[in-house]
Amino acid sequence: MNWPLDTNKNLGFGTQSVHAGEARQKPNDAITDSICCASTFTFESTESILKYLRENQDREEYGRYGNPNEKVVERKLAALEGAEDAIVYSSGMAAVVGLLMCKLSAGDEIVFFDQCYHRSREFCVKHLSRFGVVTHQVKTGDMEAMQNAINSKTKMIVSESPTNPHLSVIDLEAFVALGKRNQVETLIDSTLATPYNLKPIDWGVDYVWHSATKYMGGHNDLLAGVICGSKEKLEPVRKLRGILGSINSPHNMYLLERGLKTFALRMERHNHNGQKIAEFLENHPRIERVYYPGLASHPSHAIAKKTMKGYGGLITFLVKDADWQATAAIIDRCKIPRIGPSLGGVESLIEQPLVMSYFDYPPEQRAGFGIHDNMIRMAVGIEDTDDLIEDLRQALEAT
Ligand SMILES: *Cc1c(COP(=O)(O)O)cnc(C)c1O
Repeated sequence: MNWPLDTNKNLGFGTQSVHAGEARQKPNDAITDSICCASTFTFESTESILKYLRENQDREEYGRYGNPNEKVVERKLAALEGAEDAIVYSSGMAAVVGLLMCKLSAGDEIVFFDQCYHRSREFCVKHLSRFGVVTHQVKTGDMEAMQNAINSKTKMIVSESPTNPHLSVIDLEAFVALGKRNQVETLIDSTLATPYNLKPIDWGVDYVWHSATKYMGGHNDLLAGVICGSKEKLEPVRKLRGILGSINSPHNMYLLERGLKTFALRMERHNHNGQKIAEFLENHPRIERVYYPGLASHPSHAIAKKTMKGYGGLITFLVKDADWQATAAIIDRCKIPRIGPSLGGVESLIEQPLVMSYFDYPPEQRAGFGIHDNMIRMAVGIEDTDDLIEDLRQALEAT
């Protein structure tokens, strides 16, 4: 029996994070879901197999098609996102590969806004192209350019919101209208927003994609991904996942379920810390520019206010008159944020996109993606705001 909270949209995000998707009464009367380690699930008799097949019964069969721990997480994430269904994958990248492999065929085209996670772009440009799928990229947020890139072969338009690392926020109303007018499906990578801050399904987006490795897991200790959408649209996607095998282990799903219990609390703190630290940086004389949608100076601020509840923990900033070495020195002086990629965990992280993600790109191409030598990206965790601010201050002001 499922907790009847799954479909109750009146309940708050915190209540749903704790309870949605879970059985009210669980095996052994335990309050937590036990980790169910089976790779295979057995049948009482031949007759019970036949019944399972004929009646399309909701039970397990073989671990590559799903497991009980993963199903709990899928129901919880669907409830949080306000979607009919959610399919969880072994990483964020496995999720988008699973969706695009299902929805695109040779001769089809797909259009991206150009500020996007570099591996999703790489998958489309380098790999989907080998299967005859054509990828176009247009300037982020330019709806006219997106319209012009769409033709009769276009099947899907894709964006992140907010984007990484520039934190541009997409006008989902215009994006969805563009998709509907052209009869193409829409996909939003909502990893940086999370359903706490943004609900793309409510705006009419077809598919919402997250790297659950980030805020959803929240503890820098697991990889997972999810695609949310309607049951009908996701049914073939789920079937293909059973073939691709990009499934999660029950242990991993236990960690994700546990992480999600505190999702609302953590997001509240990430939003608070993000806003305060962005304001501190914007007012600091050593800072040239801050990219954070909660700042009135950000070009997306108006759209962010229209679509989002809070603005998350990712902040990108440029250091005034600094070359890449001087920028690196500031990062190296930080004592609280550790140096590393990723975001969304309780521990703050800091990095220089030039070094971490774009080191092997030619300088002109890097500049084309808006990756500057003096750019720092900080993924603010849930530490005390004042401690993080003081740490950044000493790192910026040391000579
Ligand atoms: C991390 C990330 C991904 C990829 O997810 P993985 O879980 O690392 O595979 C995709 N999009 C965004 C915005 C991300 O931050």
